[in-house]
Amino acid sequence: MIPSGEPAPDTGAAAGAPSIVDAGLKGLCPRCGQPTLFDGWIKFADRCTACQLDFAAFNVGDGPAAFLTMILGAIVVALAIALELTLHPPLWVHMLIWIPFTTIAVIGSLRLAKGALMAAEYRNAAREGRIDPTPDAPLP
Ligand SMILES: [Zn+2]
Repeated sequence: MIPSGEPAPDTGAAAGAPSIVDAGLKGLCPRCGQPTLFDGWIKFADRCTACQLDFAAFNVGDGPAAFLTMILGAIVVALAIALELTLHPPLWVHMLIWIPFTTIAVIGSLRLAKGALMAAEYRNAAREGRIDPTPDAPLP
């Protein structure tokens, strides 16, 4: 039990650095924790306006989009089949439900996934592969 009046214990995390989940959920800069990661809903900013971390140096690629397409596709198809088998609604009801649902789910989760992947790349110092200009052995 923590006696009242004492400060909360230090967790040992780097000052200001958010967790990967927080960075994804809130769009926080992985270095300073300010909400500067996104310029728009799913577009990364060029750099952090608070600590100048260059977001363009990271490349999350199409991984989040491909991953989410498969997960959300499976969820939406399962829900649509369940709705059809239980209530037998007309086709326009399916379109009215699933088109907006899919759009919102993709955009919402894409932001979360991109932010979390960016934070993971920063935390693990992941970079693009490069060709070493000084090879160990000369070519034959
Ligand atoms: Zn920053």
